[in-house]
Amino acid sequence: MNNSIVIKFGGTSVSSLEKWLVISDTIKKHVETGFRVFFVHSAANGITDRLQILLKHKQDQIIEEIKHILQQLATDLNVSTDILNTEFEKLDNLLQLPQPSLHQQAEILAWGEVATHQLGLAFLQQSIPVTSLDPKHILISSAHDNRNNSSRVLSAKCDVTKNQTLIDSFDQSVYSMPGFVASDPQQNTVVLGRSGSDTSAAYLAVLVNAERLEIWTDVHGIFSANPHAIPTARLLETIGYQEAREIAASGGKVLHPRSILPVEQNNIPLHIKYTQQPDAAGTVLGHQYSSTAPRVRAISTRHNITLISMESMSMWHQAGFLGSVFDIYKQLGFSVDLISTAQTNVTVSLDTADNIIEENSFNTLVEHLSRVCQVEVFKNCSAVTLVGYRIRALADKIAPVISSFADQRIYMITQSSKDLNQTIVVDQDQADKLTRALHDVLITQAYQPEDFGPTWQELVKGNSPQPQFTPPWWQSHRMQLLKLSEQKTPCYVYHMDTIQQQIDHLKSIRAVDKIHYACKANAHPDILRLIHANGLGLETVSPGEINRVMQAIPEIAPDEILFTPNFAPKQEYIDASRQGLNITIDNLFILQHWASDLADTEVILRLDPGHGSGHHRYVRTAGEHSKFGIHHSELEQAAMLCKQHNITVKGIHAHSGSGILNYENWQRIIQYLTDQLNVFPDAYIVNIGGGMGIRENPGDAGLNLQALDEMLLEFKQRHPHIHIWIEPGRYLVAHAGILMAKVTQTKWKNSKGYIGVETGMNSLIRPALYGAWHNIVNLSKFDQPNTCTASIVGPMCESGDILGVDREMPETQYGDVLMIANTGAYSASMASQYNLRQPATEIIF
Ligand code: PLP
Repeated sequence: MNNSIVIKFGGTSVSSLEKWLVISDTIKKHVETGFRVFFVHSAANGITDRLQILLKHKQDQIIEEIKHILQQLATDLNVSTDILNTEFEKLDNLLQLPQPSLHQQAEILAWGEVATHQLGLAFLQQSIPVTSLDPKHILISSAHDNRNNSSRVLSAKCDVTKNQTLIDSFDQSVYSMPGFVASDPQQNTVVLGRSGSDTSAAYLAVLVNAERLEIWTDVHGIFSANPHAIPTARLLETIGYQEAREIAASGGKVLHPRSILPVEQNNIPLHIKYTQQPDAAGTVLGHQYSSTAPRVRAISTRHNITLISMESMSMWHQAGFLGSVFDIYKQLGFSVDLISTAQTNVTVSLDTADNIIEENSFNTLVEHLSRVCQVEVFKNCSAVTLVGYRIRALADKIAPVISSFADQRIYMITQSSKDLNQTIVVDQDQADKLTRALHDVLITQAYQPEDFGPTWQELVKGNSPQPQFTPPWWQSHRMQLLKLSEQKTPCYVYHMDTIQQQIDHLKSIRAVDKIHYACKANAHPDILRLIHANGLGLETVSPGEINRVMQAIPEIAPDEILFTPNFAPKQEYIDASRQGLNITIDNLFILQHWASDLADTEVILRLDPGHGSGHHRYVRTAGEHSKFGIHHSELEQAAMLCKQHNITVKGIHAHSGSGILNYENWQRIIQYLTDQLNVFPDAYIVNIGGGMGIRENPGDAGLNLQALDEMLLEFKQRHPHIHIWIEPGRYLVAHAGILMAKVTQTKWKNSKGYIGVETGMNSLIRPALYGAWHNIVNLSKFDQPNTCTASIVGPMCESGDILGVDREMPETQYGDVLMIANTGAYSASMASQYNLRQPATEIIF
């Protein structure tokens, strides 16, 4: 038998009986086709992340969780849990080491693959004769790697070529090997870094001269954009290695660039397969595919980019300046990713692909650079990268999209000399909008059937985690709304059925024990009553909000109300405590100075999980640049002060921001909070905050509530005694509100058009404050085609009094009724009387 195939299954693909049945079926099918099969796998889902935490702090609870995951898997696979005893002992011993060496750290990280291997082998051997391979004998790291020690051990590389002696030693038809693990030439354990199991499989494919490498994963293949942000993204059924590497390097998550290179150099086709649909085609990476026409094949996005702008007159015609600057990066171990240069300025982005930048060493970098030039740092940026061929020739299509972003900051545009990619760096909150606009023009409208497979939407149809998009409520009530506008404008109109529908959506998250509505989003008494009638509690942040809630719902029990103020005066805490509300404390100061006033009570502590998220930097409420939450370094002291004053910490809380569409945000939060439970042994409530974002456009993917639910259910299974609370605002009310205002005047300045309406930033400040985008429609001319482009402005004495920039509108006249959509949240509640103009009134519909 000569034909070998390497198949690799990732973490989620080795975590349930169902997936292991796919693995054994796949092995059998390949054996029947005449292949010798080499099966490589990752650790069961969730184990390596936990091992990584254990490397930093040993926590018994995390060790128990790891053991539980594997014991559960053993039970599901119907193999004896005794198999795990030796592995558990090994892990306990490794974790006893006071200061593990790099090789011992590698052993700890590799443990997940090795333990999963024992279970998988026992399961497969029930129906297939499988021989186990020791990766430490097969994959030997390079002796010529001149990177630092830590990289050589924890992100090792191997030099591989076809190995005939090894090939000749195989006489069985199925082999199984744990991925990620290798050894150095002295047989010490090393691991292969991020996505290391893919790399193991690629190395093995080269060594055994495989006919094909199959990477089995939990997605359909590589898409033309992240399908969770752009549901119209298309599957790339075939792609060249080089393009795939560009996509992987610029943010595509399916493969790590390092796993592509070995198979590319040895012309081994790489197939990406979807474990849930084994017969689906997936994506095939092959020989360089080059077309004559310029085209973009994919748009990838990388978030959390940090830019450093360096300005100095002395770089102008001055030899050696750049050398000395880059030497600083090298010496401090920072790898530079993108670079753009001008006469007196160089801007670079830092490569954060493999390691999170340590705040301290980053500050040192800025300090050293500041000695030679003027430094400005821009954090929370995103890089949007176009990948394809001859992209420069597409400038006529790309330029209008970029110029429509003129209101926003475009920090950098770079292009590779091979014309294979172009990257645009913008604020993180703009990245999805830019990607969507570019995807529309360069892929959806330029669609060629031979280039692309089905859209993600088509692939998940019928199986979609989101409710299908239905037209917004106001569309079918247009005539009634126009009638209403005859009586009174400007006015907000709130559609109660929509709020009810949103409540029902959130209640479908089964693992959540209690939802509290953050009434700062909209504290209209009728809305508060509807929400409470559905069994939700209320979250408040001021005495004003507490009074509003109590007046609207006199029968409400005090413990149904959360009080989560920030930098509030002492008396507010004392009053709320006397009223019996659930108080959340978000500053150590309170415990240091006022703890005796709160003695013998129960509180919830708001922690800072270290990283904020959200649609704009002003709504990110965690991390060093945010005023909210108790810092990690102060937790022990907070616990001690509570103990001293007999204050029981019954819950811990974190809220990282607003308008978040990514369910992993709450996964990070719940993980962080759970990790802190050993500091607060009485806590049984974990409040993971609000921030759930809404769909702003019909095509938006929206928040995947089902994925959030599944993640929380999985957590709940492991921690059944913990009560999970959430406190959303926007999600419940944003879609339900519209603002109606009549046109007062129109104006043209050359080609620039303005449509003025009765109210502006005094009613709706979100566009001015956050650059928020709201759909604006001329309700009076709803069915008429758009014929002009104009900005919609209010009557206030501020240039920022703009509700929408450069909108396509129909012929609009004095008296027409404009409707501004999705203004149920943070709209009326943020209104002011600036210029002594009364803001829009509120009407329940
Ligand atoms: N919880 C806290 C502590 C908040 O500060 C906020 C909003 O500012 C929320 C919940 C509600 O956020 P969202 O309306 O985005 O769900």
